[in-house]
Amino acid sequence: MAVKTDKNKCLRCGGCVGVCPQVALDLTEHGIVCDAKKCTSCGICVNFCPVEALSLKK
Ligand code: SF4
Ligand code: SF4
Repeated sequence: MAVKTDKNKCLRCGGCVGVCPQVALDLTEHGIVCDAKKCTSCGICVNFCPVEALSLKK
């Protein structure tokens, strides 16, 4: 499971990295990257992001 990032919206603030209980998110030179092996699709980061740049992958 994983989330995807809308790179046009993401501010690269790094806030979502800190709220993920699975430590699945990383802020890289390419933007936010989600480790699909760690992500449980809990939605916490999606709800947290102030600019709605994250969404759950179907
Ligand atoms: S919280 Fe939102 S804007 Fe900030 S780095 Fe994460 S996806 Fe980007
Ligand atoms: S959906 Fe949950 S587990 Fe997946 S990256 Fe976001 S906060 Fe982490």
